[in-house]
Amino acid sequence: MVKTKAMVLREFGKPLTLEEVEIPSYGPDEVLLKVKAAGVCGTDLKIRDGLVPTKELPLIPGHEVAGVVAATGANVKRFRVGDAVLVSFYIPCNRCRTCRLGRQTICEQLKGRIGFEFNGGFAEYVAVPEACLIPKPPGLSFRQAAVIPDALGTCYHVLVRRAQVQKGDCLVIVGGGGGLGLHALQMAKVLGAVVIGVDVSAEKLALMKSYGADFVIDGRENPSWSDAVAAYTQGGRADLVVNFVAHQSSIDEGLKAVGKGGKLALVAYSKEVKFNALYGHLNEIDLLSTRAATKEDIEECLKLVLAKEVETVIGEVISLPELNYGLQLIKDGKLKGRLVIDLE
Ligand SMILES: [Zn+2]
Ligand SMILES: [Zn+2]
Repeated sequence: MVKTKAMVLREFGKPLTLEEVEIPSYGPDEVLLKVKAAGVCGTDLKIRDGLVPTKELPLIPGHEVAGVVAATGANVKRFRVGDAVLVSFYIPCNRCRTCRLGRQTICEQLKGRIGFEFNGGFAEYVAVPEACLIPKPPGLSFRQAAVIPDALGTCYHVLVRRAQVQKGDCLVIVGGGGGLGLHALQMAKVLGAVVIGVDVSAEKLALMKSYGADFVIDGRENPSWSDAVAAYTQGGRADLVVNFVAHQSSIDEGLKAVGKGGKLALVAYSKEVKFNALYGHLNEIDLLSTRAATKEDIEECLKLVLAKEVETVIGEVISLPELNYGLQLIKDGKLKGRLVIDLE
């Protein structure tokens, strides 16, 4: 049996281990992908710590994958060995009520997700259904391709599909200097919104400005930052607050930054977080939940990057064995953009 390398999670809360594993088997409707780059995100921390549903351990995580087709199952028609692709990591049925509405991430018969219920891309090889593959345009690097499905896709999903941002809307992005926030900020500008970024260090404030924020607020120096939003908007407050931080104080302050009839979207989530329904009632505020990105969303993001309307922000590149170090960087909030594992 040919052996290959992977980072394996054997126990929740413990570091992953670099192991020699067998090349994954793949079904007739799947391809075997040689992974070239894999994005790492905060969700991988949650997976490591057992805070989100996954398959039973051992698990090879990694849901942000770009690579080259190394072998194809018998029924695979649209892809050939050597094709460069990126992966839409949800595996929906594409037949149920929600799938037919174009909301495949809440598929009623979701088969699972690459890197959660199925082994993922923190490995040299991963098996992926043909239906999840998106061709990678030649003008895009594998590193860029790896950050698109989640770091860009999730932002597109919340701004365009869920919140339906319109030109001239005023948006607050809480955690705007993070790996998702910087992409959300750029997309909001493409959509024609006025963007206020909230984050917690001078460095992140400067980053938000450099990616187009109209106004930035340091949430640590200014814990009642919704007052600054009210002042900037001359009392009107925001049409939409998008929250990339799951702390209660960020949710509470975010809610107060929403104007009457506006929306609060929660990208970051935790079952501990509370929503002040009285305040919501008094101001008719829509609470929007949002789940990842559909394949279609990812394809739209690809267009935005190719058109140079949105830039992929990569904070650091590591090798596969450095994954545990990378997860610590995410935990410490030290990155200035997305973290990518390079396997080329
Ligand atoms: Zn992710
Ligand atoms: Zn479905």
